[in-house]
Parts: sequence; structure tokens; C-alpha cells
Amino acid sequence: PVGGSDGASGAGSVKPTLGAAEAQPAERMHLINEEQKFTPDLTSYLAKWNLIESGFGYNLCAVLGSQSTGKSTLLNRLFGTSFDVMDETRRQQTTKGIWLCRAMQAPLLVMDVEGTDGRERGEDQDFERKSALFSMASAECLIVNMWEIQVGLYQGANMGLLKTVFEVNLGLFQSARARSGSAARDKTLLFFVIRDHIGVTPLENLKNTLLHDLGRIWDSLSKPEGLESSQITDFFDFDFTTLPHKVLQPDEFEKQVVQLRQRFVERNNAKFVFRPEYHKRIPADGLPMYLGNIWEQVMTNKDLDLPTQQELLAQFRCDEIAGAAFTAFTSQIRTFRKPIEAGSILETLGQDMGAHRGSALAKFDKDASRYHQEVYKRKRVELLDKLNAALSPFFLGQLKNLHKVVLATFRTSVLDRLRGENYDFAEVVQGERAKALSRFAAASLAIRLSDTDWTTDEEQEQLREAIDGIADQCRADETKKMVAQIERGIKKITAEPTELALARPGPDMWDRILIAFKDALTSAEAAYLKKAKSFNCTDEENAVALSSLRRKSWQALRAKIDEQTADAVLSIKLRSVFEDRFRYDDEGVPRVWKPDDDIDGVFRKARDETLALIPVYARIEPSDPDLSVSIPSTSEDPAHAAQVERGEDEEFDFPSSLVLFTETRKADVSARFRKEADAYYVEAKRSTVSSIAQ
Ligand code: GDP
Ligand code: MG
Repeated sequence: PVGGSDGASGAGSVKPTLGAAEAQPAERMHLINEEQKFTPDLTSYLAKWNLIESGFGYNLCAVLGSQSTGKSTLLNRLFGTSFDVMDETRRQQTTKGIWLCRAMQAPLLVMDVEGTDGRERGEDQDFERKSALFSMASAECLIVNMWEIQVGLYQGANMGLLKTVFEVNLGLFQSARARSGSAARDKTLLFFVIRDHIGVTPLENLKNTLLHDLGRIWDSLSKPEGLESSQITDFFDFDFTTLPHKVLQPDEFEKQVVQLRQRFVERNNAKFVFRPEYHKRIPADGLPMYLGNIWEQVMTNKDLDLPTQQELLAQFRCDEIAGAAFTAFTSQIRTFRKPIEAGSILETLGQDMGAHRGSALAKFDKDASRYHQEVYKRKRVELLDKLNAALSPFFLGQLKNLHKVVLATFRTSVLDRLRGENYDFAEVVQGERAKALSRFAAASLAIRLSDTDWTTDEEQEQLREAIDGIADQCRADETKKMVAQIERGIKKITAEPTELALARPGPDMWDRILIAFKDALTSAEAAYLKKAKSFNCTDEENAVALSSLRRKSWQALRAKIDEQTADAVLSIKLRSVFEDRFRYDDEGVPRVWKPDDDIDGVFRKARDETLALIPVYARIEPSDPDLSVSIPSTSEDPAHAAQVERGEDEEFDFPSSLVLFTETRKADVSARFRKEADAYYVEAKRSTVSSIAQ
């Protein structure tokens, strides 16, 4: 593959002098071929040369100069490259185009240009100009190779070429950039290597001559708008060196080449040529596209500047890198879906989401941060948004699950504690409520990633409402429980006075019962209000509870009265009253009827007095009007009416609850009593008869 014999032998002789780690020179490649086509193989060559992963850690230099001035020879000697060298003895033509090769001693890419000798042919001048422009736009360091005798000859090919290239470079690549206001200018090093230096004219003089010529060229350029007053030093740095004649002074030539090489390959060399500001900031893996685009611009003279090219490249590569990072990310986070949809709470979801997102961003940063900074930053924001959007359903799903679990825990904890003894309802609810809310807050904070617009305020509010709903329900149940308890107490307290009063009937019978009832109710109401304080009940709730308490207590009393005035019980009571009057005298001594006794009179009196009690029993009515009670009927109590409506309670009418016996029952009771009384009368009569008989 290596063309000239000199090239092959050159490569062979390079090895011992270099003493490099690599034994063989790298294989060169045709970057731009004879048909002026850019290679599709650069990526694979960069990989082969171990540079594709090097990021910014590589350098790029190119060479410019007339044909057959020993450019390829110099590059091969300096860098151990394998460029074709023209064999004078055979006059073998080298292959036209731009060649690229990796240096042996450093991560350095070296570009060599091959034209033809026939410069009278316009086509070749065109290629020479294009390739020079390409080299200037892409390389950090452009080696300008010339013979000492060419120095000062303005008509010499080098200077003419430089003028054209400066001009096109300025117009094509730098002006748009200046217009866009880009502060940092692209700087390139022009490294003049003066060959066949005899030594008579010192380097300093040659340098001055060249700088003077370059200044003149620059002044004569037609500069684009905005760059009229720019200086050549705004775009270029200069360096100069000489080399002795390779054929006449071979040893000296080799010696100086070794010294020169050090400046190209030793990073810590004080005169290291590749200063950071020359670097085009294109990561190695982006070079194929970048260089291809520059060649495209050179070929079509598209009025695009380099930064725009860099931006286009950065957009393309950043999208690719982000896409790869996102794909890996999606497959990692897929595992969250099932458990969250099933209602589970993933304890480490926050950390896991953060870690996956972080590693996706790190992957992106690693490769993309080397590209155009603004594009990279913009694409990073896009990627972050996309990552967050992908994670958001898990965040929301877990919040929903948290809501359910926290609420259920709240309910069971409250009910558990209410089942126990000696609790303060408000304390229980407040305590469990605070616990639930803080658990939710902590767990939701743990899954709220930074750099998102995720909030939990709404969910927190929803939870608070749900908790309060449950608390209200519990409080209603508790109130009911308490009312029932108080009601049982009233029943117990009023039972005995009621029994006693009904057993000893009289005009103040109801007064005694109602006094006991009112006392019990007053202390029950006080007990309720005392307890209700800790429930945080509203006034309205208290009013409903109290009215229910009054009604239930009244109904309990009524039930007790019913029990004590049932037919059998009542007839015993009436009989007992009657007996007391009929069979015992005023001193309470049992009567023994004598024939002269007014049995009829005593009987009638006792019977009538007892009968007179029946209307008293028939209706609850105290003799003292102050003692009468009033309990709201269903129709007067909206809360109770609503309960009746829902079928939770029965209708209640207070006035009718005061009536114990209907008229019919009154008549029945009277009739039955009369019969019983008659029996006593007959018995009394008999007893006198029998006493007479004795
Ligand atoms: P290129 O066309 O510029 O790449 O030149 P080459 O490297 O192909 O060399 C062209 C001819 O110049 C070859 O015959 C070389 O042997 C010869 N040559 C190489 N180096 C030197 C040098 O330092 N001085 C002179 N006078 N000739 C050289
Ligand atoms: Mg050559």
C-alpha cells in the first residue's frame, strides 16, 4: 500500500531513531481521494488508531507548501507516518488527494496534501487552494514548508497561495463568526519550516522577512464586512524554524528533526506547539462528520461559518447520545411499573429514580459535554425534561398508593385506640392525624426529585380532607356511643323512684317521678357537655346530641312507666290501694266486720277513691305545672326528622307520649277493678254472716 520506495525505506529507518512504543508506523488513509470525495472510513481508521475514544485528547496538524519540497519526507521523519514520498530516480507519481495518518509517538493526526507538479494546469491550482483552505480551517497547526531560497520571493508559490487561502478563509469561515459576535476567535498556528537552510542568513532575519511579507499580504486582502480593521495576529500565531539539507547534511538533519519532534509530541515541553486555544473543540468521535462538513463547505463554498458547523454537529451528536442514554434509562425504570400499578409503595423509589436519572445524565455528559457548549446545555435540558416526564407517572402513582395506605393506617389506629379505656378522643384523632400527615409528607418528599416541577401540595390537601372525613365519622360514632351510655345511666337512676311513685299513687305521683327524671337529665346533659368538649363538636352537633339524649331518656322513662302500669301490675297496685282502705282502719289495724258496721259505706268510699286513681295513672301530668317537661317531637326537631327520613329512628310525638291509657283501656281497667272490689265486698259480708253464725 505504501507507494514510493523512499517511503518504505523511510518507515524502516524511522523505527530505531524514534524508539517509540509502536513498532510499526500507522497505516495512512485517503481522507480525500483523487475524485475530491471525502472518505466514509474515517471512523474506522480513528478506531484502528486508538483515537475514537480520545475526546479532546488529540491534536491535528497539516502541511502546506509547493510540490516536491520534501513535505512528506519531513512528516514521515517527524511522526513516523507512512506518507508517499516521491522517488526522484523513478519519477514515480504520488497519489493525489489529502492523506491522513496517526503519529507514532502521540495522539496526533497528521494530514499530508499531494498535488501535482503541473501547476500550469488550472485544475491543480484549484485543488491546491481547496486543500490548503481545508487544512487551515481544520488543523490546529499548519506547517508551512518552504526552501530557504523561496523566502523573500513574493512571487514564490507559497505566498501567492497564502494570500488566496487567507482571503477565502476570512470570507468563508471567519466573517459570519465575527458577525455573530462570537468573542473567542479561532486561532491557528502557522509553523514555518525553512528547509535546506545553509546557515548564512540567521533564522531571525528569515523570520522578519516572512512576517513583513505576511503583513503585506494581509494588508492587500479584501476583507469582509466587520473585519476591515482586523489584524493577521487576530487569527494566526507564528512560529519559525530551519532545517539543514537532508541530503547534504543527513546527520545534522536527523538531529534537528528529533529536536523539532519534541515540540510536537511532548506535552510538557515548554515550546509545545499545540496550545489549547488552537484546538477546534471537536471530540474525536465527531471528527468524521466535522471534517466532512468543512470539506463540503470548501467544495460548495457555502457561506457557513465553523461555529455553525460545530452547532449542527453538536445537535446531531447530542441527540444521538441522548437517545442512547434514554433507551438504557427506559429499560431500567420499567421495573417500577408493575408494583406501583399493583398499589405497592417502593421504599427506595426516590433514590432509585434519582440514580437512574443521574446515570442517564452522566452518560450524556460524558460524551456530549465535549460538543458545542450552548447546544450541549440546551440538549441536556431537553433530556432532563424527557427523563422527568418518564419518571413522573411513578411519582404520581406512588403518591396515590401512599394516600391509600396512610389513610387506612390512620383509620385502624384511631379505631384501635378508641376501643381502649381512658382516652381523650380529640387527643387520639389529633395525634394520629399528625402522624399520618407527617408520614405522607416525609414519604412524598423522598420521591420528589430535584430539578423537576413536581409538587405534592394537592395530594397533601386531598389526604387532609380524607382524614378529616374519617375523623368526623369516628366522632359521630363516639357521640352516639356516649349518648347511649348516658341514657343507660338515666334509666338506672330513674327506675327506683319511678317504681316507688307508681306503687304509692296519689295526686303528686307524677311530680315525684318528674323531679327524679329532671335531676337525672340535668346531670346527664352536664356529663355530655363535659365529654363533648374533647370531641371538638360544633354547637350544632351538641344541640343534635342533646336533643337525642333528651328524647331517648324520655322514651326510656316512658318504657319504665309502661312496664309499671301493665294490666297485671296495675291491678295489683289498685287492689293494694283498695285493700289498704277497705280492709284496714285509719290506724292501719285490720278490720273485723261486725253486723252493725257500715260495710257498704266503707266499701263505696274505698272503691271510689281507688277508681279516682285510674285517670291519674292514665296521663303523665304533674300537679305542679313547673315540673312539666317538654321534649321536641319529630316535627319540631329537624335533625331527628332527617334520621327518621333515613329510617335510622322512629317518629316521636311528645304530646301523645304523655297519654298512657286510652279511654277504652281506662274503662277496661275500671271494670276489672270493680269486679275485684266486689269480690272483697262479698267476702266482707260473708265474714259477718259467719261471725253471727258462731
Ligand atoms: P513533497 O512532494 O513535498 O511531499 O516532497 P517529497 O517528500 O515527496 O520529496 C520530494 C523529493 O525531495 C524527494 O526526492 C526527496 O528525496 C527530496 N527531499 C526530501 N527532503 C529533502 C530536503 O530536505 N532537501 C532537498 N533538497 N530535497 C529533499
Ligand atoms: Mg508529498
